[in-house]
Amino acid sequence: MGGLLVSLLKLYIMLEIRPNCEHCGKSLPSNSTDAMICSFECTYCTYCAAVLFENVCPSCGGDFQPRPIRPKVMLKKYPSSTKEVLDRKTQEKVDEMKAKYVTIKPEER
Ligand SMILES: [Zn+2]
Ligand SMILES: [Zn+2]
Repeated sequence: MGGLLVSLLKLYIMLEIRPNCEHCGKSLPSNSTDAMICSFECTYCTYCAAVLFENVCPSCGGDFQPRPIRPKVMLKKYPSSTKEVLDRKTQEKVDEMKAKYVTIKPEER
């Protein structure tokens, strides 16, 4: 179990914590409670993730979870990313991924 715990910690430390919603551009600072991420760390605001995408990531088809908030003291050593990622998805792409996955539970996708 030690190995798994270490792997999980590394994964957590490696989160980039992107500064904005990749779809609408909304600012999502590292302490935002409005940020959602998929398993690949595609980052969206809650509105885009829940309302527009209906919990289907338009890039990978996975679900979203609230992004964990890194404590201030850890940000000094492991700062959040300042690199803006903006990759607006077309309605066709959003609809295509929703059609494929929205009725399937995330754990069964
Ligand atoms: Zn958004
Ligand atoms: Zn994704």
